[in-house]
Amino acid sequence: LAKIMNVSPSDIISKFFMMGQLVTMNQRLDRDSLEMICDEFKVDYRFEDEYGMDIIDKEREQYNNVKEEPRPPVVTIMGHVDHGKTSILDYIRNTNVVAGESGNITQHIGAYQIEINKHKITFLDTPGHEAFTAMRARGANVTDIAVIVISATEGVKAQTREAIDHAKAAGVSIILAINKVDLPEANVDKVIAQLMEIGVYPEQYGGDIPWCRTSVVTGEGILNLIELILLTAEILELKAKRDVPASAVVIEAGMDARMGPFATILMQEGTLHKGDIVVCGAVHGRIRKMENERGAELKVLYPSDVARVYGLSDTPKAGDILNQVDSEKTARNISTERQQIRLEREKYQNKSSLQNIFARIKEEQINTLNIILKTDTDGSAEALADSFQKLSNEEVSVNIIHKSVGGISEADVSLAAASDAIIIGFHVRPSHQARKLAEEEGVQIKLYQVIYDAIDDLQNALEGMLKPEY
Ligand code: GDP
Repeated sequence: LAKIMNVSPSDIISKFFMMGQLVTMNQRLDRDSLEMICDEFKVDYRFEDEYGMDIIDKEREQYNNVKEEPRPPVVTIMGHVDHGKTSILDYIRNTNVVAGESGNITQHIGAYQIEINKHKITFLDTPGHEAFTAMRARGANVTDIAVIVISATEGVKAQTREAIDHAKAAGVSIILAINKVDLPEANVDKVIAQLMEIGVYPEQYGGDIPWCRTSVVTGEGILNLIELILLTAEILELKAKRDVPASAVVIEAGMDARMGPFATILMQEGTLHKGDIVVCGAVHGRIRKMENERGAELKVLYPSDVARVYGLSDTPKAGDILNQVDSEKTARNISTERQQIRLEREKYQNKSSLQNIFARIKEEQINTLNIILKTDTDGSAEALADSFQKLSNEEVSVNIIHKSVGGISEADVSLAAASDAIIIGFHVRPSHQARKLAEEEGVQIKLYQVIYDAIDDLQNALEGMLKPEY
């Protein structure tokens, strides 16, 4: 963003700071923040629709008059680490089985649905609010209700506040779950007092935010929590069109050894059947199979439903939108064009990504840059390692923690993540799994074809570090 706006990243960070928002270099900004910062810098901007949306919209014109119908709520559980998000999700998942289904969870697909007294609720199993923000950054508001889990023993923590801020910014309804009330040191009153201090007023305490006590050990309050969700959903009167072509958002995606690329999707509108033709971000395909997290095959999906779908030409990205289209030709044309656009964009962005790494190093005052070097030949590995090491200076030392010949593997990425390293590939590429893991772990992979490009990049970045812009 800084590059596009032609300002320094620290200018953007300090501007946010002055507006009371703490952001870091590697954070994804949501749409509201992007608008705000562009306004602050008096930069003209517009959000571009993905390529092909005009074609997709045109196909939809004939459905303009279709009435909206009620849909289940979509719930995200957020809160500080270890306060019990996963435990609550698992508790609900294990005690509630959609009517008529049995069997165990066969795969975690990032989302699941429960049914209680004929009411469905969709839970997104996103790790923290990262995914939540990532999807908002792409303009997809996928959550209706955020359950903020707060440990009754630890109380309000940094990530609790962050979660509340994120939920508020997204305009989703908040429900508070004060968890671990089974523990002797639990102090619910104290948690409520802390919440009020940060301007969050629960029901019965001068506010209207629904809340409950929960424990996954005794099961206390979980049903209450579900009731609060249903009650909140009722008030929200959530609706979406059913009898229109499907559109859905990708929650997560990957590659299945047997079935090929898959995506877990959350339906936003319309109806999706097996056999339907879709374009999904920069990939396309025909839905070959849809299944839930119990591995049961699903024939049809409606708004707020979630499923893992197979039949795509390649792996899409989390946050991509899946659209049903009329013909395979349209699907292919749109996805091919989008691939081109994304490639161009990546090329442009890669140029500045090393700068980010160094800015982070500067911020966190790390003075060693750990590098994992993967090359096509032994000779180039030695040559690059030597050149890199010579770039060390008094303030930053370059440390090659691993170098070897061959493609970039998952093991390389794990090592990089564990040792806070970047991966530099010379004439090699990451495997699909490695690329995916790198995305998840936030590990930077830089690929080069020319030795001097690699050296130049590193050198420029190092020099940039030594001249702080504040
Ligand atoms: P997350 O990081 O927010 O997903 O937290 P987890 O669900 O992983 O829980 C962190 C720890 O707290 C685990 O050891 C859980 O067993 C424990 N825990 C979660 N909920 C409760 C609860 O209601 N009571 C007690 N005593 N422990 C809990």
